[in-house]
Amino acid sequence: MIDCIRTALTKVRKDKFQTMARNTIESTCPVCNKTYTRFQGTRQRCCSYSCARLQPIGIRIENSIIKESNGCWVWTKCIDESGYGVSWRDGRKIAAHRASWEYYNSPLQDGEWVLHKCDNRPCVNPDHLFIGNALDNAQDKISKGRGQGKLTPDQVRAIRSDPRASRKVAPEFRTSKTTILQIRRRLLYDWVD
Ligand SMILES: [Zn+2]
Ligand SMILES: [Zn+2]
Repeated sequence: MIDCIRTALTKVRKDKFQTMARNTIESTCPVCNKTYTRFQGTRQRCCSYSCARLQPIGIRIENSIIKESNGCWVWTKCIDESGYGVSWRDGRKIAAHRASWEYYNSPLQDGEWVLHKCDNRPCVNPDHLFIGNALDNAQDKISKGRGQGKLTPDQVRAIRSDPRASRKVAPEFRTSKTTILQIRRRLLYDWVD
């Protein structure tokens, strides 16, 4: 039975690969200007992974979003556990909505948070973003009815006294690692003793 599925899968992959191999097109890498062949229909824009990592953030954003009718630019690449887009800039990981804000507006200072007006976490449209601090972020969450309010004071105390890493604790409380960290740093639920 398992072997059957495996054979079938291998065949599907083989067929797919052969179809793709027939439809290769010549492209120019936007980073190193080399000509390379890529499969038609893929979203690949660079000749190699190392070039892709060095891709200018503006091009990267353009290539990673779908512009929806409500104006949201929804991130289609990697999404983190809290639902925000993840991008790369100068070879380092960065939250996509922060990268977008910095690219279209100005560099962020320490302690500045980029918040969503549209409450759509994978959205990176700079017009849907605004700057706030950690407190604004917490208040924003309450006003939008998520995050705070979901946990009871007892749960908050349990989170704070739990010696385990936040990423281990998060799934048990059906929340994100970031929320656990903020609870522990008293950026959230500071009213619970
Ligand atoms: Zn290249
Ligand atoms: Zn939006």
